[in-house]
Amino acid sequence: MIHRANSLSSTTEAFNAECAKLRSIFSRLDYPMSVIDSAIKKFLFLNSSANKAERNNDDSSTVRISLPFKDQVAANAVRKRLRDLSHKIGPTLQPVFVSKKLGQDLRPKEIKPSIVNKQCVVYNFSCDLCDADYVGYTARHLHQRIAEHKNSAIGRHFLEAHGNNNLLRESQFTVLRKCQSKFDCLVFEMLFIKKLKPNLNIQTDSIRAKLFV
Ligand SMILES: [Zn+2]
Repeated sequence: MIHRANSLSSTTEAFNAECAKLRSIFSRLDYPMSVIDSAIKKFLFLNSSANKAERNNDDSSTVRISLPFKDQVAANAVRKRLRDLSHKIGPTLQPVFVSKKLGQDLRPKEIKPSIVNKQCVVYNFSCDLCDADYVGYTARHLHQRIAEHKNSAIGRHFLEAHGNNNLLRESQFTVLRKCQSKFDCLVFEMLFIKKLKPNLNIQTDSIRAKLFV
């Protein structure tokens, strides 16, 4: 302790005087006194660790002080005062300006798991012109899958039975079950196919065919 006090004493007076100047500058710049004091305390802490480190390692002579950023004029004034203070007390003082607001703005927004975009569903197609129906599943949003059905058994049905493959509508689809995984989808798809016996489903739609593809 005595050794440390001794090593600091040659600069304490100068340092305290500089602190007083910094306080008045910052308060003129409308910084709350509590912010100034906590910055100085932080500096004292960093400075004492820097001095300790200096005794072990002469290279670590830069002290970074984080301060809230107010505006460029204030930042320049702080940078100049710290540079002057550095010359007097030894270690290089480097202000690090932090903006809480900016940090918050730049923080990437949490990506919420979307129920709409990613869902496993078993769905039923029911032709509104005849009794044709179909059961399928998708791990994507249903409307993406529906668009693909233009070229599937459903599209073929519209072309063959009604002479037009542009009759596909989202309203012809209903969700039979929301599932947790692809495997659940396959199981429930199979159960619904057994129960509803949709006439557009063909043998390759079976769970065995899909599981071992
Ligand atoms: Zn039909």
